[in-house]
Amino acid sequence: MPTSHAARGQHSLRRENIFALTLCCLVALLPLACGDGNHDQNPQFTAQTSALPEFAHSTLVRLNTASLARAVQAGKEIQLPFAYIGGGTANRKVQLTLRNMRAADLAAYVLKNGNAGTGTSAPLPPPATYQGRVRNGGSANFTLTESVVEGSMLTIDGWSFIEPLEPLLRLRNVSPDTRAQLLKRFNHVVYNVRDLGGHVLLNDDPGPSQPVGAKKPSGQLVMSMVADGDPELLRAYPLDSVMPFWLKQETLLNSVDWLYNCIEPEANADNAYADCGNDFDGGSNAFQATVRIDRLEVWTTGGPDSNRADISLEQSITMTHQASPVCCGEPHTAGHSSLVHFFSGRGFEDRAGEAWGTGGVNNYGPGCFSTTDRDCHHAISQLVPTGAGSNFTFHGNVFEQQALVSHEIGHNNNAPEVFTNVCPVCWLFDTQCGNCLMASQGGFSSMTQYLYDEQAVVTHMGPLLAERLTSPPVGL
Ligand SMILES: [Zn+2]
Repeated sequence: MPTSHAARGQHSLRRENIFALTLCCLVALLPLACGDGNHDQNPQFTAQTSALPEFAHSTLVRLNTASLARAVQAGKEIQLPFAYIGGGTANRKVQLTLRNMRAADLAAYVLKNGNAGTGTSAPLPPPATYQGRVRNGGSANFTLTESVVEGSMLTIDGWSFIEPLEPLLRLRNVSPDTRAQLLKRFNHVVYNVRDLGGHVLLNDDPGPSQPVGAKKPSGQLVMSMVADGDPELLRAYPLDSVMPFWLKQETLLNSVDWLYNCIEPEANADNAYADCGNDFDGGSNAFQATVRIDRLEVWTTGGPDSNRADISLEQSITMTHQASPVCCGEPHTAGHSSLVHFFSGRGFEDRAGEAWGTGGVNNYGPGCFSTTDRDCHHAISQLVPTGAGSNFTFHGNVFEQQALVSHEIGHNNNAPEVFTNVCPVCWLFDTQCGNCLMASQGGFSSMTQYLYDEQAVVTHMGPLLAERLTSPPVGL
């Protein structure tokens, strides 16, 4: 690590020391941790443990988001905190490039009032989704606006996330007083995935996956997407917050684009801005897909309303496929996009996510309306922490959100469930290895890598994408 980084790290540690001590006494979040000699080495630990239980060694920071946004918009290299495994952070230099995934005619988000049968739209601010390189090796993807930084850096030191404290604290029902105290001093949390506690067990096997012939794409594949959501999503990520619903949808889809587009060869003009080493294409078949966002929508009233993910998904399909829309006219429909992803602000009872069958990408046929022979381009993901009544645990941090959305879209794109605990994958030229995204027995954990199983990609996913994304939708 360069000297300047170390110095900066020490300075920031001293600063956080004071903040953490103050917090500990003010808030008494975790009396056990106060004055514990072991934790004095890493005082951030005490400040966060109670409100953020799965972030064992995370660090709270205050980022000057306005200045970062100005710099990144000017194309300058910026410095962002990276969390090391076991605790501690250092600033890493990151060169980010705007990754505008919006379709040419996507200029507004849509609010669907299901009760009134009407819809309104409001202009979107300019895109703020970026991808790029970490200096000295590594890949990055971030949303960066005047008030928020959300995303991750993948380097040989691990996979480090930055996410805003608001709405994280609010969605965990941290008391308003404690939230106010924390947000006065900090605005983001930084953590390494390897340090995350707990794991998310999935119970979402959508059925077998059929291998597809070895069709090779003739050109760049485009995976077009509709992002939808329920009124609970809008409540979780309101328009006046640092992370409004449409920005949350766009941020998660930027990570999906990072996964599907950031492949070898590095010199590829379509990802020359990044430092990839991603096995998505199995290292051989040159399968690659970019995300194009067609719509960013949410229901303000009405819409899917079940406490079960599978039923909410079924409702979402029915509502978006009705020939004469129950509300809002044209923007309400699924259009002709390859995928529709429903982002929910509900803590479901049955499972955190679901895809309507395996391999349903760009399929609008009868399988969208069958519960026994599911085959459709829709999936659903929960974004918020589960409540006490659920039969699984989902913390709703950005790592879990991103892993879940990509797991369900993986099913859409013909990835089968992996029932063993081990499906080894590596990113960044084999320097970062762990378990693949489709592993369901162990679920998402500190060992998860942001990759699909290579064999599934080569035999199931890549060829189906090549076939479906170069022909008209099935069933139209
Ligand atoms: Zn699954």
